[in-house]
Amino acid sequence: MIPDWEIERREMVEVQMRRRGIQDARLLRALEEIPREEFVPPDARLLAYGDDPLPIGCGQTVSQPYMTALMTELLELTGAENVLEVGTGSGYHAAVLGALAATVVTVELIPALAAVARRNLARTGRDANILVIAGDGSLGYPQLAPYDAITVAAGAPEIPTPLLDQLNDPGRLVIPVGERRDQELRVIWKRNGAIESRVASLCRFVPLRGEEGWR
Ligand code: SAM
Repeated sequence: MIPDWEIERREMVEVQMRRRGIQDARLLRALEEIPREEFVPPDARLLAYGDDPLPIGCGQTVSQPYMTALMTELLELTGAENVLEVGTGSGYHAAVLGALAATVVTVELIPALAAVARRNLARTGRDANILVIAGDGSLGYPQLAPYDAITVAAGAPEIPTPLLDQLNDPGRLVIPVGERRDQELRVIWKRNGAIESRVASLCRFVPLRGEEGWR
């Protein structure tokens, strides 16, 4: 039997988000509206609202919904921002960002996944303000910089300098940094030319590859 996706979405938001402290009302509304089941492979649809990452092909995953929500909330989007996402994957996080910001550029290293994400975003009518680029996002996407907010969905050994360079002032970057397997989720602010940083949580992401990632 096909589940009632709206009920599944509402339950996800209540149990996985609100009860764990996610408070941004615009974000919670977006999570209630975006059909996550359309961003996972057909054989994983029944698990779309589970509390785990899910395989999306090419050895990659769509992140746990709570992690997507936490990373988005940490960006404190108001609706006016130009956002860069590194690691498009399925396009689900890009859709969430697109609902909360003015424009989103999202870069995916694996061309086949970039193509799937483009299709997912178009099919769900979420593609109007989102540009999907196939390329090495560890170098950012200087053509459309500066970005008011940058989020990286893969674990980096260090904060890539090109991302700091392409961050607006003021601007905010959320990125997992650490070892190949386990990382710290860091929030970095650029303000009046200075950089501040804090650790928001521990996390486990697939490795950021590319020139400024793991070789
Ligand atoms: N945000 C995605 C979503 O909503 O489905 C999940 C992203 S998945 C956890 C991490 C993604 O980062 C993978 O698709 C991987 O191919 C991609 N990736 C890894 N290194 C990258 C790089 N240097 N540039 C762009 N994408 C990269």
